[in-house]
Amino acid sequence: MTHRKKVTYAERDAPLCRGRKMQEDKMPELAEVEMIRRVLEPQLGGRTVTKLLVVRPEVVAHPQTEQFAENVCGAVIERLCRRGKYLQIIFQNGSRAVVHLRMTGQLLVLPADSPPEKYTQLVLSLDDGRELRFLDMRRFGRWWFLQKDEPDTFTGMQTLGPEPSDERLTAGYLREKAGASRKAIKDWLLCQQYVAGIGNIYSDEILFAAGIYPGRGACSLTEKEWERLAEEIPRTMQFFVEKNEISAEDYLKSKGRDYRNTPYLQVYGHKGAPCPKCGAPLAGSRIAGRSSVYCLQCQK
Ligand SMILES: [Zn+2]
Repeated sequence: MTHRKKVTYAERDAPLCRGRKMQEDKMPELAEVEMIRRVLEPQLGGRTVTKLLVVRPEVVAHPQTEQFAENVCGAVIERLCRRGKYLQIIFQNGSRAVVHLRMTGQLLVLPADSPPEKYTQLVLSLDDGRELRFLDMRRFGRWWFLQKDEPDTFTGMQTLGPEPSDERLTAGYLREKAGASRKAIKDWLLCQQYVAGIGNIYSDEILFAAGIYPGRGACSLTEKEWERLAEEIPRTMQFFVEKNEISAEDYLKSKGRDYRNTPYLQVYGHKGAPCPKCGAPLAGSRIAGRSSVYCLQCQK
């Protein structure tokens, strides 16, 4: 019987790895996309799209840009939904626009006469004199449009596994999906078809909380370890969603890139710093091609 110390999520100093690299690594995951949804929904709900500007046609993945514009213009926004790392703008007529921010996508609601933003890829003009602007420095972000009842065979959303908060996500579900997979458990958690919304940051945090070394083969996890994962996945994600809460003003000031939960990250970005549970220096290496931080004492 192991006595696992629970993470208490005390606030930490800023991560050691600062500046541009940190920013690039910090791709929006579930907790960030949920923050964006919560900030933007009150500003967009009830608004009619009056005009669409597509700066770079590749940003629209489906349908053709002209068709996309025809569908979006005149549509009334009802609400915003999130699924995994996808954000969906649901229109009153049942159609929806889907956006994936990938590495550096940003969504800002600004007055139409405010100065143009660098890296603007797409702009939706709204009937209240404001605009929803999509900025994307690295240009991997994509938009899709789905008619009401149109089968989704292209966004990738159709292949997503359950949300972390989904009650289907049990130890039994995880173990069954992992089967005989020799993939490192960190890499396995990043596969969106098993659990939706987890990326590089939260896979490190979840595995630290669960006391599991990220390089372990998924098939080697014990029943107890799957149980801990099933407990820590929703707990960790919920915690960081709550910590990410931000006002619309502060969101705009940081252009949606200020993640309020950063001081609460226990291991991500803290390689070399003392482990919050045992005090040993945190180790770091590349696992499945992704930078990973973990404690060799606390994670077996
Ligand atoms: Zn430790």
